[in-house]
Amino acid sequence: MRMSVSKTRVDAVIFDWGGTLTPWHDIDLEAQWYAYAEHWDPVNARALAHRLCAAELERWQVQRESGGAMSTGALDHIFLDEGIDIHSAAHLRALAAYLDFWAPHTYADEQALPTLELLRARGIKTGVLSNTLWPSSYHQEVFDRDGLSSLFDACVYSSQLPVAKPHADAFTSVAQLLDVSPQACVFVGDRLWDDVHGAQSIGMRGIWIPHSQLPNAQLPDFEVTPDAVANQLLNVAEIVDAWNSGTPAEII
Ligand SMILES: [Mg+2]
Repeated sequence: MRMSVSKTRVDAVIFDWGGTLTPWHDIDLEAQWYAYAEHWDPVNARALAHRLCAAELERWQVQRESGGAMSTGALDHIFLDEGIDIHSAAHLRALAAYLDFWAPHTYADEQALPTLELLRARGIKTGVLSNTLWPSSYHQEVFDRDGLSSLFDACVYSSQLPVAKPHADAFTSVAQLLDVSPQACVFVGDRLWDDVHGAQSIGMRGIWIPHSQLPNAQLPDFEVTPDAVANQLLNVAEIVDAWNSGTPAEII
């Protein structure tokens, strides 16, 4: 754990989801789409999975290359672009298979719950800001399963925004929902560009969780210095305690 010194009290901690509250998993995106496609169109499943995967990757690329000025939009947009009737029973069955594929990769880090409880016990608000294709209902279900739902004051998902991290408006939206100034917010994430740089660009402090094995294509060539590095989620509470007590930074 290492961290910078700051005089502003921390009143809110906002977390990224994938690779932060939930440990990073390498996902075979084409297999994810095959799980859907073999239910929607078993005869042409391989080709459909390929098109859906390409459509998803293109949306992530546009989001990344626009610096978050354009979000991926919602998962439904991928189905609608493919001409799929998203109200049909066949789609709902296929979607259930897609979600089953994802389920093992969505469990919260075992330190997520105690970390959130520690922060809230100190009167600190907590939130989530995630770049995601999924609607809030999917994320809510995952948090319900893991007992986290009641531990967040605000959850914001880029699927429901015109923008995404690292765009300033994404971070502003969650700070406004929490009713806390950016300077009193800390953002915790596994991506130096999307999470740490984005948060710092509007005056938040950024804590980096350095565990995720991100593909090189998703790593912009841009130097970012986090305000602190947390090697495990529970370190976040210690870092916030140190900032709020005004004690000198501990360098480990
Ligand atoms: Mg992440």
